[in-house]
Amino acid sequence: MGTSWLLVVVIALFGAIVGSFLNVVIYRLPRGMSIRQPARSFCPHCRSSIHWSHNVPIVGWLRLRGRCNTCGTPIAARYPLVEAVTAVTCLFVWDRFFVARPIDTPATLAAQLPLLIAAFGLFASLIASAVIDIETYTVDIRVCIFAMILGVLAFATAGLPSDDLAPSATIVGAPLPPMLCLIGAAMGLTWLATWFIVSRLFPATHSEHDATSSTEETVEAESVVESTPEGTEQRAAPPTRLMHTAILALLLIVIAHAAWLIFASDRPADLPLQADAIRSILVCGLMFFLLILAGLVPREVDDEVYEEIVQNRSQARTVAAREAAWLAPALVVGIILLVWLRRADFLGFTWHEALDKLAIFVPASSHVAGALSAVGAMIWAAAIGWTVRILGTFAFGKEAYGTGDIYLMAAIGACAGIWNCFFGFFAAALLALLGTFVLMFRKRSRAIPFGPWLALGSLCALPAESWLLRFFRPTGEMLWSLMCGKTF
Ligand SMILES: [Zn+2]
Repeated sequence: MGTSWLLVVVIALFGAIVGSFLNVVIYRLPRGMSIRQPARSFCPHCRSSIHWSHNVPIVGWLRLRGRCNTCGTPIAARYPLVEAVTAVTCLFVWDRFFVARPIDTPATLAAQLPLLIAAFGLFASLIASAVIDIETYTVDIRVCIFAMILGVLAFATAGLPSDDLAPSATIVGAPLPPMLCLIGAAMGLTWLATWFIVSRLFPATHSEHDATSSTEETVEAESVVESTPEGTEQRAAPPTRLMHTAILALLLIVIAHAAWLIFASDRPADLPLQADAIRSILVCGLMFFLLILAGLVPREVDDEVYEEIVQNRSQARTVAAREAAWLAPALVVGIILLVWLRRADFLGFTWHEALDKLAIFVPASSHVAGALSAVGAMIWAAAIGWTVRILGTFAFGKEAYGTGDIYLMAAIGACAGIWNCFFGFFAAALLALLGTFVLMFRKRSRAIPFGPWLALGSLCALPAESWLLRFFRPTGEMLWSLMCGKTF
């Protein structure tokens, strides 16, 4: 199946427009403003609404030369950057789904469509979260919950892949074994019940929208608003010639990426590496470079966050212990269920055996199983995050891993599956280490919170997942059959 140029152009434009909307989300959510009102975008400085012709993604900023048309205040380079990044990401996701591994039959294409939409939604949420995290050190839970719901709906619509579809044909397939999903769902429900009961018994417990990333409750939404009241908005740096060239270069990258996808299927392997692998490395490398650039821009909020970490240091272990107590009921339920399923010899069920049993009781069991696999992946992803947080905090005696990062991992698990989340987490840790190392050589640089690295890790795991799964499958299967109590 060749890649139609019209389709590629539509996807690039779609990405840029989504990026434009993400800019609204990035500006308004941390300031406690409504996404819907006002409907028109406005200049943050003089509040005059922006004419539609100047609101065209990327090109609008270039045409205005990076300044407001009414008052001449510099418009942050973040706007065209986010638009270009979203366009490249959408092209990349499309590439992974339909170009890098061509799917012939329209039926498989239709089956993949909900998962493609979930992946678009996930990476849009991750881009918004990453930029908010860089600017305020917070993760907005609402963005993560949007992605989680989208993921569960998408997998419910797609259902489980049928037998005749090879696992390698699905990009985010490879679900966890059904019984692990069941245990995950039970643990999630127990956690929700614990939360519900405790919040009823002690209504004073906080329920704010923002979870912190890498720091505990440091910069809440209100304090961001306080520090930047209307009119005294922190001014963007005036646009320089270099900035213009950089944005223009990014626009060219978007166009080049689209062009490559159009011609990709015509000449697949005229390079030593596979062409799609080169595209993946280039896109992930570009995103890494942009994150490093973001690390070179110092912000006032940095010192506040550092002070908060030092201040909270004495209570860090207490907080971790309290959270462990919160999770204890869910953990107990999980262990009891695991032991029981193992005893009753249910643990080793494959999805298709489970589906056959389920079909007797549940109508549309494939869709129910699809939803269950997404919920299971979501809960296990969050469980990995909580484990890292609690163990890390006990080990280092200071907050090791933000609660916002756990929500991000849950969103990744729901939309892209547990393996993307798993490999993405390790990729993120490696990239963050590399990034910190690179930034060490610049004096005015600062630490980048973990959220953006997690987003980049998930993006990198997308092309690498099937390869890594093939590599680790024998070990995984051996561990699994040991867990199920089977011998070879
Ligand atoms: Zn203005």
